[in-house]
Amino acid sequence: MKIILIGMQGSGKGTYAKLLNEIYHLEHISIGDILRNEVNKKSKIGLQIDEILKKGELVDDKIILDLLENKLKNNFVLDGFPRTIKQARELEKITKIDKVFYITLKDETAIKRLTTRIQCEKCGAIYGNRKKPLNDNICDICGSKLIKRPDDNEESIKKRLEIFHKETKPLIDFYIKKKILIKIVGEKTIDKVFSKIEEYLNK
Ligand code: ADP
Repeated sequence: MKIILIGMQGSGKGTYAKLLNEIYHLEHISIGDILRNEVNKKSKIGLQIDEILKKGELVDDKIILDLLENKLKNNFVLDGFPRTIKQARELEKITKIDKVFYITLKDETAIKRLTTRIQCEKCGAIYGNRKKPLNDNICDICGSKLIKRPDDNEESIKKRLEIFHKETKPLIDFYIKKKILIKIVGEKTIDKVFSKIEEYLNK
């Protein structure tokens, strides 16, 4: 099965994608993680990307598509792509998508979640208000350090939410028309949201 998760920043896409990976063995493709990996490598392209990420703007489509090349063959859960109608059209040329889950969230909840979010620098596990680590700043899963993402600052959050409303939200209608969109209310506990996703997974 090939799945896309769409949702505002902080809606939990990464968290649910990881669960889908663990339980249903769908490959978790997070374009945000792929981009941060490039930044950490300090490659030429990584340095370019770093500036864009810090500002909360969208990275150029060509760079994104190059990074995704050959990654969309097996069953997957795609987190962070597509974010624009143009990207969705590009994706259509590469592969067929079975289901799109749109996880809804209010702006104010998103801001609250993002400002308290910390992430494992090694395995990418996400913690915050809803899920606190057992030991402060240490990942429960792999024991590595938990860090705040540099783009989880007020200015960048504002920009990312603005882009979500303007560029990403039109995807909802795009996928409704294709009859593959499932809307899930994101303002609930992780367990409840994930059970809803599971309920629709095999329908
Ligand atoms: P968030 O959704 O919270 O912004 P991500 O980790 O998914 O976090 O993405 C981080 C950043 O990576 C985005 O702010 C953007 O700069 C870039 N990015 C991610 N996905 C895309 C995409 N599909 N197209 C362009 N840029 C992207």
